[in-house]
Amino acid sequence: MIGKTLFFRVGVYFVSFLIINFVIDFPLSYYQGYWRQHAYGLSNQTLSKWFGDQFTGLLIGIVAGFLFLWIPYLLLKKSPRRWWLYTGLLAIPFLTLVILVQPVWIDPLFNKFGPMKNKEIETKILQLAERAGIEGSRVYEVEKSEDTKALNAYVTGFGATKRIVLWDTIIAKLDEDELLFVMGHEMGHYALDHVWKTIIFLSLLIIAALYAIHRTAGWLINKFHRRFGFTELSDVASLPLIILLFSAYFLIIAPIALAFSRYNEREADRFGLEITRNNRAGATAFVKLQQENLGVPYPHILVKLWQASHPTLGERIDFCNEYRPWQKGEQLRYEKLFKQAK
Ligand SMILES: [Zn+2]
Repeated sequence: MIGKTLFFRVGVYFVSFLIINFVIDFPLSYYQGYWRQHAYGLSNQTLSKWFGDQFTGLLIGIVAGFLFLWIPYLLLKKSPRRWWLYTGLLAIPFLTLVILVQPVWIDPLFNKFGPMKNKEIETKILQLAERAGIEGSRVYEVEKSEDTKALNAYVTGFGATKRIVLWDTIIAKLDEDELLFVMGHEMGHYALDHVWKTIIFLSLLIIAALYAIHRTAGWLINKFHRRFGFTELSDVASLPLIILLFSAYFLIIAPIALAFSRYNEREADRFGLEITRNNRAGATAFVKLQQENLGVPYPHILVKLWQASHPTLGERIDFCNEYRPWQKGEQLRYEKLFKQAK
């Protein structure tokens, strides 16, 4: 019963690792996630809700680790030379599964999701979705105001669980035109297949990182196996080494992944502008986002390269003000995707 032992050994080891890590990280998480948010008036979250969310997150990590982490270790045993490739390829179905189940199984553990309360705006959003060529779209409102005063909206899910989610805070702060621009942006992510493209792109980066880990770990184990206490990467004791190396390579792959994300976000902004042709609403929506979220309009270049998943707010406002090809009689990039209103 090698399979079963491996499953439990990796699981128990991972759970211990996760709990120790959680305890060490706890003061910093509290400072960042609770104390600072309140100090700047960005949060109305109660301490018990914050604590509850932390433990829910830890629990999800434990369950996910137990369910899946034995797979790379099995591959390490069975195929010590090609495990990085197979594990990386498995990231594609794994990420797809995560995106599929997260909106229905995970997200509701943290907040309450429901239909949009303002039916008038919902109707307009659904009309816009029809023009954007997105059929059967669902729009959800999430009661995020119990956690934060910040504004946000996003697309998530896959197939039957695909949806557009609006925080109740953004519905409260933006006017109708601004909300429709934000929706145009979110619909752009769907119409331009950003979810799929991101899964493939991230999987390629994961394969590259795992290959780099494979090469460096082999070299390190050869040199330091006495000190490490293990001689094979397939020994579950290698987990901290793998995580350490992954963190190091993450510094290289993060800017690449973020640049890809910023490109997609710019194109979603373009899509939102082309479908609404409301430059002012786009620009004022980002001004409100900057004010409410205390965003930095032009962060330092290093912050942008290593942290920014979106173009900076300053760049987005400029783009909203400047991008008007329809006024110059120029071809719109995404017009061919738009459907005529019925
Ligand atoms: Zn976006």
